[in-house]
Amino acid sequence: MNNTLTEITEKLNHGQKLKHSEFVTLLKSNNSELRENLSKKADQVRRLHFDNNVYIRGLIEFTNYCKNDCYYCGIRKSNKNASRYRLTKDDILECCQNGYKLGFRTFVLQGGEDPYYNDDMLEDIIFSIRNSYSDCAITLSIGERSFNSYKRLFDAGADRYLLREETADNSHYKMLHPDEMSYDNRMECLNNLKSIGYQVGCGFMVGSPKQTAENIANDLMFIQEFRPHMVGIGPYITHVDTPFSTESNGTLEETLLIISILRLIEPKLLLPATTSLGTIHPLGREMGIKAGANVIMPNLSPTNVRKKYMLYDNKICTGDESAECVRCVNTKMASIGYNVVTDRGDSPLI
Ligand code: SAH
Repeated sequence: MNNTLTEITEKLNHGQKLKHSEFVTLLKSNNSELRENLSKKADQVRRLHFDNNVYIRGLIEFTNYCKNDCYYCGIRKSNKNASRYRLTKDDILECCQNGYKLGFRTFVLQGGEDPYYNDDMLEDIIFSIRNSYSDCAITLSIGERSFNSYKRLFDAGADRYLLREETADNSHYKMLHPDEMSYDNRMECLNNLKSIGYQVGCGFMVGSPKQTAENIANDLMFIQEFRPHMVGIGPYITHVDTPFSTESNGTLEETLLIISILRLIEPKLLLPATTSLGTIHPLGREMGIKAGANVIMPNLSPTNVRKKYMLYDNKICTGDESAECVRCVNTKMASIGYNVVTDRGDSPLI
């Protein structure tokens, strides 16, 4: 490794903030020794704070209706080939019941931006989960809403919110989204969520169309400043029914590198090895954990809707029962010496 790279990694290893240009140098370096060093260091740092524990979150994909038209996403409103579904409150509670028995202590309600679920309905769903499962965390991942809506859902019992910024660069944001959507609003939503008191997760797709190393460096700079509790990153994967159907996918290597960098930027971060990482490589999630991730989000959605929540092509875990997914994740983690725990897994940063 050359002197500049060694200096930058030293800074990262000592918890010093990096400059935009330093992130760009790391991202562009393509140096396998550097990647290995960062991965090893990231694993050590994670063990310091989380031992070899891996937290699981039960993902309930409760609607694939969406009013947005993001160019990369398979459930965008213009995709007429998507077969749409909505889960009822009872369906959702059944997923939670099933998940609780399997050891989940966090439920993540994720969906497209579907106005059918207004604040009253969501409040009612959240209240019911909160009352039945007082020892569980409730995470929402339902896109952009008003400050008041976020506040009501928080007061109803939601603890956490995942809202990826997708890209922390205004001009890149415009390349990924139609004009009706706004970068400023997304950022404002993230700030609102934090000020209300949610544990907040942001994040982005690695290798999304037109993304440059400079763009990713912007995301990393944003994360250094914003100090989220969680960061979700995974490779971009094309979906055949989107305007980006002929673009190329993000890579395993780049995603792993960024996971390690994130772990070193914020040692106490909750960092999932995502389903998309498991989709581009059969051992992607294991490699993600070894590179510094500490969360896995197995699917708790009813089996009959899973193939319909197709954000990208060939998404894994769409055929199995939830119990099967949990067994599979437990085995995978044990095979690399990590331990899936039954725990809410709250952020140590709160
Ligand atoms: N409507 C919610 C949930 C979106 S789905 C919201 O706006 O937050 C969750 C995440 O899946 C998105 O934030 C996006 O980063 C990711 N995603 C969507 N399409 C994808 C694709 N083609 N490849 C990889 N990830 C994708």
